Amino acid sequence: MALMITDECINCDVCEPECPNDAIFLGEEHYDIDPHKCTECVGHFDEPQCVQICPVACIPVNPQHVEGRETLWQKYQRLQAAADRQP
Ligand code: SF4
Ligand code: SF4
Repeated sequence: MALMITDECINCDVCEPECPNDAIFLGEEHYDIDPHKCTECVGHFDEPQCVQICPVACIPVNPQHVEGRETLWQKYQRLQAAADRQP
């Protein structure tokens, strides 16, 4: 599953640098997560790093992007392959 940030977000900035996939960005109103980059930290950490650090617990599962662990693992591998192709 990819995660999402709700409008409870207080834009405290602490989650963005913690994401190993650069999936978190500042949207129009608050921080947001690119579901195509979020692996729920699969491949990097045992727990979602953004959820661990968020002070207001506003990062639930994105119901539009429910994915199993195998799918998340494949997404991780695609992201790694793309990163390896970067100059
Ligand atoms: S769960 Fe992990 S990969 Fe997904 S947005 Fe949070 S820190 Fe990034
Ligand atoms: S840690 Fe939570 S409150 Fe802070 S910017 Fe990220 S989602 Fe928003």
